[in-house]
Amino acid sequence: MSTLDAALWLIERDFTVFPADHPGLARCAGVGRAHDADACADRGKHPAVAFTRTHSTDPEQVRRWFRSRLRNIGVAVGACRGAGGERLLVVDSDRPGAIEDVATQDGHGHTATMRVRTAKGYHDYYWVPAETRLGNGLGALLGRFDGDVRSGNAYVIGPGSVHATGVIYEVVDESQAPVQCPGWLLNALTAQPVPRQPARAAVGTRRTVRSTGGRLTALLRFVLESPAGERNNRLYWAARRAFEQGGAADSSLASALLDAATHIGLSEAEARHTITNAYRSKAVQ
Ligand SMILES: [Zn+2]
Repeated sequence: MSTLDAALWLIERDFTVFPADHPGLARCAGVGRAHDADACADRGKHPAVAFTRTHSTDPEQVRRWFRSRLRNIGVAVGACRGAGGERLLVVDSDRPGAIEDVATQDGHGHTATMRVRTAKGYHDYYWVPAETRLGNGLGALLGRFDGDVRSGNAYVIGPGSVHATGVIYEVVDESQAPVQCPGWLLNALTAQPVPRQPARAAVGTRRTVRSTGGRLTALLRFVLESPAGERNNRLYWAARRAFEQGGAADSSLASALLDAATHIGLSEAEARHTITNAYRSKAVQ
């Protein structure tokens, strides 16, 4: 799935999107008066438009934003509405199991919902009642939950995007739509904070994920920096390495490579052909 396809997938499900910086660009595409695009140290995360006003569910607008430009996808959390007018809440676990641990401690099971794999953990998308106003505060989860929540005037980087480490944000189960936020979680987020000791992070797991993704970033850069006569050769070489090393689903690796290739001027058909050949050569080894 290309970034454009991922953005179209999101708006078909009524998520409101906007373009954000992509870590493969030479300088950050982020906007904002205080933001220094050349010195930016948090690549791939910054909105390329004033997202609280500029966001869309219109396929034509989304095509203009994502068809021929290398961009990550921002989800304008505060602009998304469920079928009954519900508001969106995204629970951002900084490690796998973070929200499950809190649920278990409170005597509940985790409520499965739309889930996006991130560089460090997961984004879980829930609907909350329209009359409930949440922000980014953790409420009673402060000091207990290894992550953040995003609601109200906020955004998250969506599936189909590439993290600065090279990890691709991926929907875990495309058939799983967001469900209503469980009551215990809503109560916790709207309660007064009770600070406790921070939860311990699974450092070993993180390091593994980062080093795998870092190699993909290097491979994407290798493609992006191709001199004109070497674009196809470099793409083929990088695709073979990416498929051999893994670290993400093959379809995600292919779409990241395709985005990079079309960004440097290869036609989509040509790039697909090269990536497919690289994939086949790996399969017969
Ligand atoms: Zn930036």
